[in-house]
Amino acid sequence: MSPARGAAAAVLALTTSLALGGCVLTSVATDDGPAPSTTSSAPAPDTTSAAAASADPAGYAVLETDEVTGAPITYSPCRPIAYVTNLAGAPAGVEELVEQAVAVIAEDTGLTFTDEGSTDEGPDPEREAQLAEYGDDVWAPVLIAWTDDEAIPDLAGDTVGLAGSQAYTDAEGRSSYVSGDVMLDGPDLSAILEGPGGEAQVRAVVLHELGHLVGLDHVDDPTQLMFAEDNPEVTEPAAGDLAGLAAMGAGPCVEDLATP
Ligand SMILES: [Zn+2]
Repeated sequence: MSPARGAAAAVLALTTSLALGGCVLTSVATDDGPAPSTTSSAPAPDTTSAAAASADPAGYAVLETDEVTGAPITYSPCRPIAYVTNLAGAPAGVEELVEQAVAVIAEDTGLTFTDEGSTDEGPDPEREAQLAEYGDDVWAPVLIAWTDDEAIPDLAGDTVGLAGSQAYTDAEGRSSYVSGDVMLDGPDLSAILEGPGGEAQVRAVVLHELGHLVGLDHVDDPTQLMFAEDNPEVTEPAAGDLAGLAAMGAGPCVEDLATP
């Protein structure tokens, strides 16, 4: 938590989403033969019905709601989301997968992402929304970091990624995300990359983490990308995910966020 700076009553609130954003990797597909029927045991006639039948009637869940408005906390759609990438712990060839995933999230949310290139900034679960190395008068860009469970113990075991964003609350009490981070488990994802459908699987993990970044929580429906566990059959946003991503891009336009 940072002291108030700049505008009166300004508070930088670290979200709790890092704790919520872990993704447990379970059964990575080990068969590379014909895909088994995925719906044989479930009478789901189409994806719309499947989404509607999930525990969340909207087909998506949000990580945080604004205490004043009760609306989901989102990034301001009027402010481009700058991001930097640390590829130091990345398997070879994944840079393009990240670019593809960012492009999908940008299209499905309508939010604008600005690639500010590579960085050697390491991941930090306590990372703040403002960092001197990026300038005193701007929010730090989102950090997408490839790392491992030695550097980030919360990535231990089957957890392949973590993501969350930090909200800025203005004098009126309105909160918007201003920065965030995505931490990807390089060794785990390297192993997935080498398996069947590896590129699509890794891209799906990045998509899932970017879903957290923009404010989505897990859902109980395993046919959605925001299901908490890796599902080799789901590599693109499904109906509930798409509704959620659209909602995350439809937050209030907050053009005058104070930057200290
Ligand atoms: Zn997750």
